[in-house]
Amino acid sequence: SNDYRVVVFGAGGVGKSSLVLRFVKGTFRESYIPTVEDTYRQVITCNKNSICTLQITDTTGSHQFPAMQRLNISKGHAFIMVYSITSRQSLEELKPTWEIIREIKGSLENVPLMLVGNKCDETDARELTAKEGEEQARQWSSHFMETSAKTNYNVKELFQELLSLDKNR
Ligand code: GDP
Ligand code: MG
Repeated sequence: SNDYRVVVFGAGGVGKSSLVLRFVKGTFRESYIPTVEDTYRQVITCNKNSICTLQITDTTGSHQFPAMQRLNISKGHAFIMVYSITSRQSLEELKPTWEIIREIKGSLENVPLMLVGNKCDETDARELTAKEGEEQARQWSSHFMETSAKTNYNVKELFQELLSLDKNR
């Protein structure tokens, strides 16, 4: 089909829904509303000037059923793994997800993968440097970016760069 599926993973509260809503709707809210699982669709231009549907799945985080997670990974083309720069634990919590992506996809060489350190506006509460995020990304054969859904820093760029990583799209 002409669908391009992006799946967003990360612990609860790191800003997955905020990043997706900022990108898709241009909005931001301060309150925390736990997500069930939502998918957003957008028509975008792909290679060769044809159009396709970008499908972004905003997952529940660590409360996701294992079978759901595996299904999302099997069907997904590209993955965003979000942690908060204010929580070292939120980066550590991504490890099992990354391991399952690698297990299901085999080689990650042709899988667009982005590790994202969100909430980079929270400078006083920072627990992880950008260098630490970069280093983890390197170990996970992933690309890396810091973002802020709150200030709209690097949000559009995140999705643009992720899509540009896929040569077959
Ligand atoms: P999710 O559980 O990963 O989907 O997290 P949410 O998107 O629901 O966000 C959790 C909380 O963090 C909410 O109160 C958001 O307002 C806040 N938040 C999300 N992104 C940012 C950000 O970039 N900066 C700051 N300061 N807060 C954020
Ligand atoms: Mg959410």
